[in-house]
Amino acid sequence: MTNKIADFCRVAAEKKNITELKALVKNDPELAVIYPESIHESGGAILFLLKTSHGKRLIVLGGNTLIFKACHGVEHLLEKITFKECRLTHENSLVIRKYFPFTNPQSLAEADLTMGFGDRLGLASPGQIRLIRDTKVKPVLAQQSMRELNLTGRTYPGVLADVVWAVFQEDYQNGYGADGDHLKTMDDIQMALGVGMTMITLDCSDYIHNLKNEELSQIDKLYAELPSEKRQALETRFLGKSIQVGALTLAFSTESLRLNGVIYQKAIDYAIKVFQELIKPAGRVDFEVSIDETLTPTDPLSHFFVALQLIEAGVKINSLAPRFCGEFQKGIDYRGDVKQFEAEYQAHEAIARHFGYKLSIHSGSDKFTVFPIIGRLSERFHVKTAGTNWLEAVRVIIRQDPKLYREMHAFALKHLDEAKKYYHISADPSRIPSLDSLSDDQLPELMNQDDARQVIHITYGLILQAKDEDGKNYLKERIYDCLNQNEDLYAECLEKHLGKHLQKLGVK
Ligand code: ZN
Repeated sequence: MTNKIADFCRVAAEKKNITELKALVKNDPELAVIYPESIHESGGAILFLLKTSHGKRLIVLGGNTLIFKACHGVEHLLEKITFKECRLTHENSLVIRKYFPFTNPQSLAEADLTMGFGDRLGLASPGQIRLIRDTKVKPVLAQQSMRELNLTGRTYPGVLADVVWAVFQEDYQNGYGADGDHLKTMDDIQMALGVGMTMITLDCSDYIHNLKNEELSQIDKLYAELPSEKRQALETRFLGKSIQVGALTLAFSTESLRLNGVIYQKAIDYAIKVFQELIKPAGRVDFEVSIDETLTPTDPLSHFFVALQLIEAGVKINSLAPRFCGEFQKGIDYRGDVKQFEAEYQAHEAIARHFGYKLSIHSGSDKFTVFPIIGRLSERFHVKTAGTNWLEAVRVIIRQDPKLYREMHAFALKHLDEAKKYYHISADPSRIPSLDSLSDDQLPELMNQDDARQVIHITYGLILQAKDEDGKNYLKERIYDCLNQNEDLYAECLEKHLGKHLQKLGVK
């Protein structure tokens, strides 16, 4: 600890006026290692985050206070000032959550505009917060699927802790959500709820019957496999009726009813079970139902078929994710017929509005072509982004450590087939210029090229877990070092790139 910091601690221990202390830090370049917005007071203790050569640390002043005793760390005595130096662990984040309630995730059910900001590294939240702070959009700052947790080697407690520290660092008091994203099993949902996730996105894909070509002629037979009382109920509810949903008139033929029953009925029954057994007892949890991981786009009629049954069974849906027409590939713009998208989006929006929930747009990173349509047609929506936050991190690495980027890039290309097991993309590596032909100055252009973006996008897990001969994560450590050394630049890149998302959606 430098003399300058020690002086600051002495002033802080006496003064305890947060506004003055923040101003002191902001106006003194020698105090730049203190995060000004992280200065907080609780029961007489002063806390702040400090940048050190071995990572960020929480400093707590005020030896006799409850929070000082609760924080786990090393006690120091410096010229009569006692302070505790604490690591930013999950354990300490629980203490912060207890004494500073605004750092807890919460339900965002009341917010009309919400965005999910997945963060694979645990470093993106400050930039996301700086962007979102003065907008109408409420952020879901913690958002991870099991696939992402497995690929990055992270856990929900760790993901949430990283967000808590960022919220504390930025003094963001407007509330944020935490999404257990794309969860498929009851066990995973229970685990996520236990950690305190405030949103659950149920992925029903294991229960959706993706029809094979040869099954198309066997719909009647497959439908007959549903229990007879179920079929009876469906036919009474849906057949021979013309249903008005906004400007939309929906009607089921025997054929379309059977088709939807075959594809979706098991998923609907599963979603009802999950809601009744886990979500409802958990209290204020925002429940999202996702039926987007299917082979074919969700027909508006199918959307209605699913939603009506859920609502009538008492499921409180906060948002629902259909699979839209066209392609929502990871990390690149929309591909498909924009006119058709608009027409179908309008129908999906009418259904969502009719039932009182938000549409949720998955794989929402970089879909700039369709954002204006979404912004225009929806007064309420949820848009999920994830990979683009990682790609902005890569942009920083390209600029600040091109040598590291070259290693990541070569590794990604070598292991592309492995990554394709987890993610569907259409990238053609042969369209990516060879690294040897590019100077360091030309490397940034790669992050504007769809094929390179997708390759880097889907290989993040393999890159982070890449081990050298000694079993060391040789890329991961350098990635974290580079981003930690350039945290303001990373925040700026995120603000700019995610800001473009908000602008196109018409909310900034
Ligand atoms: Zn999805």
